[in-house]
Formats: sequence, C-alpha cells, structure tokens
Amino acid sequence: MRYAERMNLLGTETAFEVLAKARALEAQGRSIVHLEIGEPDFDTPAAIRDAAIRAIQEGFTHYGPSAGLPEVKEAIAAHISKDRGLSVTADQVVITPGGKPVITFSIMATVDPGDEVIVPNPGFPIYESVARFVGAKVVPLVLREEREFRFGAADLEALLTPKTKMVVLNSPHNPTGSVLSPKDLDEIAALLRDRDIWVLSDEIYSKVLYEGVHQSIATRPGMAEKTILLDGFSKTYAMTGWRLGYGIMTPVLAKHVARLATNVYSHATSFVQRAAPTALGGKQDEVVAMVAEFRRRREAIVAGLNAIPGIKCTKPAGAFYVFPNVRGLGMKSAEIEGALLQEAGIAALSGTAFGAHGEGYIRFSYANSIENIQEGLRRFEAFVQSRTRAAR
Ligand code: PLP
Repeated sequence: MRYAERMNLLGTETAFEVLAKARALEAQGRSIVHLEIGEPDFDTPAAIRDAAIRAIQEGFTHYGPSAGLPEVKEAIAAHISKDRGLSVTADQVVITPGGKPVITFSIMATVDPGDEVIVPNPGFPIYESVARFVGAKVVPLVLREEREFRFGAADLEALLTPKTKMVVLNSPHNPTGSVLSPKDLDEIAALLRDRDIWVLSDEIYSKVLYEGVHQSIATRPGMAEKTILLDGFSKTYAMTGWRLGYGIMTPVLAKHVARLATNVYSHATSFVQRAAPTALGGKQDEVVAMVAEFRRRREAIVAGLNAIPGIKCTKPAGAFYVFPNVRGLGMKSAEIEGALLQEAGIAALSGTAFGAHGEGYIRFSYANSIENIQEGLRRFEAFVQSRTRAAR
C-alpha cells in the first residue's frame, strides 16, 4: 500500500516519543527522572474539576457549535479583553481542543503553497511541521543565546520578502523560556503594521512569567486585525489532558477556522468547555502558587546547571524550560538525548527537536518536583563528568 506524498512533509513533537521510550525503560525496572514533557505536574484546581462534573450532570454531553459554546466564547472574549487590554468580541473566539489546532488551522486558513512563514528556531516544532505540510517555505528566525534567545525587529526585517505570509511569535518561549520585552513588541509591530502579514502570537505560557505582566503584540497599533492570538488552559491551569484552548482572530478568519474544525472534530468537548468560565473567573491563587513553585524550581535548576563545569544555562524569564548550552560535552545534542536516557536515567530533549538551530543545547522541563530536579542534576553532573573524563 502507498501513502500520500504529503506525509513526508509532516513533522512531529518528539517529547511524546522520548516519554514513550522512558516509560518502556521504567517498565523494565529502570529509574528515570522525567525532564522531557512540558506539562505542569500539579492537579487541575478542584473548582475547575467540579465545574466539568457539574456540566456532565447538567447534560452538556451533546453536539455544539464548531467555534464553541456561545456563553463560553463570551467568557473568553471578556477575559482576554480585560487581561490583555484588548477589545475582543465573541465572534473573534474559536474554542479548540488544546491550543494546538489554532496553530494548524490558522496556518491552513491563511498560508498558500509557496508562501513564506517565519518561525522561531529553536521553536515549538509544530509551526514548522504544519507550514511545510501546506507547502509553504519555512524561514527560520534564529534565536541566539547571546541575545537571551530574544530577537529584534532588525533580525526579522532581514527575513521579510514579498512572499512572507505569516510570522510566528511565541513569548514566553518554548524551549528557551525567553520573553520579548515591551520594546521588542513595539519594534516588531512597527515593522509589520503596514504589511499584509499575519502574526500567529502563541501566548500559551502567558501566565508562566517570572517578572512583569504579559503583553500581547495584538495590543500594538494596527496589530489586532492581523494577529491570531493563541492561548489556552493546558499550562495555566494544569489541564493538558483536558484538551482546551482557544484562538482570538478576526471574525472572518474565525469562520474559516471553525469550518476546519467542522471538518476535523466538530468542536471541543461540550462539558470540558463549560469548565472554562470557572477557570478564568475564579480566584487565581492556585495559578499564582504554581508559578511561585516554578520560580523556586527555576532557581534550583539554573544554579545547579551553571555549577557543572562545561555547562552554561541562561536564566529563563518565562515558561518552565531551561535550554542549557552543552557544547562543552563535544557530542551532538541528539546523541546526548539518547545517552542521558539510556545511561544516566534522565529523559530530556535534544535541542534539535526544536529545529536545526537547537544544536548544542538540550531542553529540560522543570515541571517536576524539586526532589526530582535535584536527582536529575546529580545524575546529569555525573554524566558530564564521566564524558569529560573520557574525552581527556
Ligand atoms: N504552543 C506551545 C509553544 C507549546 O509549548 C504547546 C504545548 O506544549 C502548545 C502550543 C500546545 O498546547 P496544547 O497542549 O494546549 O495544545
């Protein structure tokens, strides 16, 4: 049997593959410290769980509109208007099973074969995967350690061509934890404002921020009409398995995206959607407590990594990942990923899982307990020492 050619263009997210390998080793009795997967290790707050259970009991077990339940779209529009300082109406909201479909559908709805899509590299692999799948040319926007993995308007301007159709921004950023400053956003917006270029602004880590308040590029003059704002519940409320996210976009694009939803999954699960207003409208103390705990872990992992000779780690400003420079080991990142799992009992991701410019780095997720992080650091230090000794 033969498969469609286009499947050769589709990439993947290797975090799930490393997790599967780690679980297989655990089934054989091996001890593995999980620093690979990007999900909060906390439980979903009780009030949110109760709201979903109530919704099942109230009968929210039927089909609904593809863009989402009207009252939930209203709640999300009100939340984003207040939280970001934007004026968003319900017809601009599409509720999706997780934030990911916003990436796939907004690219499918705006990008033609031959168009160019500028994506951060290293960056979340799904942007590149989907852009390639629709036949676009992917243009890497290289994020450099020397710039704390941020970039400026000049870096972006150098990549613009008449074929540029979309620019993907992701702040706070996976995998580096970098955050674009208000000034970066001003300059990027000024560059894009008068151009016919869509901006996919992936703000899924908007609440996992260690200093200041998150800002969206959509707030800058002229940008709301061209921005697709992605956010969701997975990271903020420890709801990865629920699959609940949303996109904010022009009403016309929202209709296109909803039509794609109709063709693929109809709509996000009705009773899951009904938990959203409770999450957004409730007291946010559990979110604040989670971020405080992530901050404590960030201090521990950054200090621990920088104390290892040959390893250099930039302090992330947001999200829950570190992206240490491991060039001192003299090995390819993918080789380090394999050796860490097989020899050291650490599940981590090669920097190249996030694009070619992730070579020389690995990603650790610190969405794990301090005890596990300390154990991971001990194992990593022993691994680095053994490799450096072997190289001498
Ligand atoms: N965007 C980024 C940058 C992510 O890291 C992730 C998840 O890891 C997503 C989007 C997708 O989130 P969800 O699980 O809500 O689909």
